[in-house]
Amino acid sequence: MRIVSLLPVGHVNRTLLEPLAEGLTQHLRVACSIQPEGMEAEFALNPLRRQYHSTEILKRILPGAAQGSLKVLGVTEMDLYIPVLTFVFGEAQVSDGGAVVSAHRLRQEFYGLPADPDLLRDRLLKEALHELGHTFGLRHCVDYTCVMSSSNGVERIDLKRAEFCPHCAHLMPTDEP
Ligand SMILES: [Zn+2]
Ligand SMILES: [Zn+2]
Repeated sequence: MRIVSLLPVGHVNRTLLEPLAEGLTQHLRVACSIQPEGMEAEFALNPLRRQYHSTEILKRILPGAAQGSLKVLGVTEMDLYIPVLTFVFGEAQVSDGGAVVSAHRLRQEFYGLPADPDLLRDRLLKEALHELGHTFGLRHCVDYTCVMSSSNGVERIDLKRAEFCPHCAHLMPTDEP
């Protein structure tokens, strides 16, 4: 049985975490749990950018994700970046145990629009599936409806489905019978 553990990074609303755990359980057929103890991430803050360096967060997530099939997905509401980009929705170690995903820029409010909790949960699930796909060894997909297609904006996230295309699904590891 594959196991995904959700690690809150900074303060994360339970109304985001619980539906995400449920969605991942359904879509990945994994046992998904929420870690009771979250992780602070002030160490990753860049005061000039007022954003958090996702690679630094990943480094601290990975040691906890070393065991077997266990994946640890950091979930945050903070704005993430890597130095070469304005922002990232998330980051993952390809074929490794850790990933992190941010809800910050998935909110309609970020773009000056009215809040849409269902859309937010939908986007977060897609980005979580995407980053976890990387940890299972998947690369970006050219099929824009596939959850493994790369997204540089929410419009692209909204175009894709919360599903792996047949090609990507085929590359996902299957549980032993
Ligand atoms: Zn990606
Ligand atoms: Zn695909």
